[in-house]
Amino acid sequence: MKSKIVMIFTGGTIAMKVDPELDAAVPGVGSNELMEMVKEVDKIADFETIDFANIPSPHMTPDLMLELSKVVKENIARDDVTGIVITHGTDTLEETAYFLELVTNSEKPIVLVGSMRNNSDLGYDGAANIAAAIYTACSPEAKSKGVLVVMNDQIYSAVDVTKTNKVAVDTFKSPELGPIGIISNKEVVFYRNIKERQLLDTEKIEKKVGLVKLAAGMEADILEFFIESGYKGIVIEALGCGNVPPAMAGGIRRAVEKDIPVVLVSRCIKGRVEPVYGYEGGGSQLKDMGVIFGGNLSGQKARIKLILALGISDDIDIIRKFF
Ligand code: ASP
Repeated sequence: MKSKIVMIFTGGTIAMKVDPELDAAVPGVGSNELMEMVKEVDKIADFETIDFANIPSPHMTPDLMLELSKVVKENIARDDVTGIVITHGTDTLEETAYFLELVTNSEKPIVLVGSMRNNSDLGYDGAANIAAAIYTACSPEAKSKGVLVVMNDQIYSAVDVTKTNKVAVDTFKSPELGPIGIISNKEVVFYRNIKERQLLDTEKIEKKVGLVKLAAGMEADILEFFIESGYKGIVIEALGCGNVPPAMAGGIRRAVEKDIPVVLVSRCIKGRVEPVYGYEGGGSQLKDMGVIFGGNLSGQKARIKLILALGISDDIDIIRKFF
């Protein structure tokens, strides 16, 4: 029996071409045109298309992610649906993928896909990537692997994938763990399974979550801004294994004392944050203050998690457990 795939289009370079007047890429390729490019997959699946949006992914927001998650949940629950493919701009694709990973609880494949070259570029990678995403969504092996990202014939888990290159077609990587599978000559091959999934399912989100990346000598003024502007959560992309410049430490203490959850991650792309150092601003001191350690998450993914966690509860101990 043929698979049934729901295609949800949200925009991105995959749906862009160059406007000759602007001499720059803008949205301009519709879902019908994109589906025409991948006619060969008609042999393995029937399709339904949903035009959710046609936006560049820097225009994506947590509200839109929540709305998208409702469309995904509604469709993935249908008995006749095998899987879902979502086209998305690559800039924030990993954030939407992680959001969906945390709020959806289906064993059926949910696959995000984009392209690095627009439809006017030589070597446009959109059609091949969509076909690879569809092969993946139709694969029985893709079941129970959580939300997946397919680009450049590689399959990644939404949990650890990140955009690593500003322009190259092999931009998506999991720097620590690598791809979980590949698409090879139309065959979907998985190398490994994923750990138990975490669910933070909520219909409510808290968008006022700030993210600040730290560098040598930074001071706490940005944290004072967050506190005074009513931010409900703060993610700190700290140094090394989770340390901050001494002039930051006081600001973090003030935020924690005001019951604002502060989540600590690192600007290093591999490894986990750990409370190793006891000096002023060291991780051990931050831990004693009540800062929440965010494991191996990137800043942008920790922010998505905190947005969802705060939608579920404002109790710091419950939020701490989520991390
Ligand atoms: N700036 C584009 C976007 O994220 C990049 C892309 O889609 O690859 O929408």
